[in-house]
Amino acid sequence: MTSKSGIKAINEELKKHRGDNPELEKLIDLYGEIFKVQESTRLKAGSTPVLSPGEALAKLLSGQYVIEKKSLQIDPELYKETALALGQLFSRVSDRPFPVEELLSLPRLKPEAASKFAADILANKVDYVREFAKSNNINEETVSFFLLSLIVPFFQAQAEYYKEVIKDAGWKKGSCPFCGSLPRHARFEGKDSQRFLFCPLCRSQWRFPRMKCPFCDNAQHDKLRYFFAGEDKSHRVDVCDVCKRYIKTTIEKASGQETLPQVEEAISLPLDFLAAKEGYQRD
Ligand SMILES: [Zn+2]
Ligand SMILES: [Zn+2]
Repeated sequence: MTSKSGIKAINEELKKHRGDNPELEKLIDLYGEIFKVQESTRLKAGSTPVLSPGEALAKLLSGQYVIEKKSLQIDPELYKETALALGQLFSRVSDRPFPVEELLSLPRLKPEAASKFAADILANKVDYVREFAKSNNINEETVSFFLLSLIVPFFQAQAEYYKEVIKDAGWKKGSCPFCGSLPRHARFEGKDSQRFLFCPLCRSQWRFPRMKCPFCDNAQHDKLRYFFAGEDKSHRVDVCDVCKRYIKTTIEKASGQETLPQVEEAISLPLDFLAAKEGYQRD
């Protein structure tokens, strides 16, 4: 991606949106702080490739995502450092101490077990998060958001190594070519409006047909719709009436600029509310 994806550009863009969303101000600020921590971790983590580009390409061409059946190597010290930095942010925003030490003492969340936690996230086997939230009397979504924020830069650092391979592979699925996660955002690029999907876990992006649901592959035009939130014609919710799921979309022709996925993540909560109200689920 171009230099516009840098952390400075992200924070400048977030500042612009802060004003339009007084209710979301606190959340946008929290995202801005999270992105700074993540960027520092991403840079420190670097990339220790699990596969060569050639091996990754062969895997993609056979329909497997890059880290399928592989595990992500995570430095325990850096994981802990990132968790503590994020814990401070979460404590500050919620005005109560976020139980980061307690979380890190869970068997699957211990720094030495970080690679296992990454595997649990991919397999969606994180029931212990719900139990932890319950017994610590803390919102489960907050804990999930914290853990996702913690693990993202490690996935991102790895995925970046395969950016070019992913571009060349002609990946046809709606799930992420690097990690297999489902997308939450899409963008219609520039003037010709090709569609790209974004992965919320490793921040990869890949091309996908405009008139197709990334979740169930439905391509019947009369079952695919979209709606805008009010006057803003650069952001919309694309929904599928076969699987009742939705994806948030940024239209660059209307926004007049390149989409920064992190910014979309931080400002698009109103679209989630709208989609839920209309009876659609995220992924
Ligand atoms: Zn991914
Ligand atoms: Zn669908």
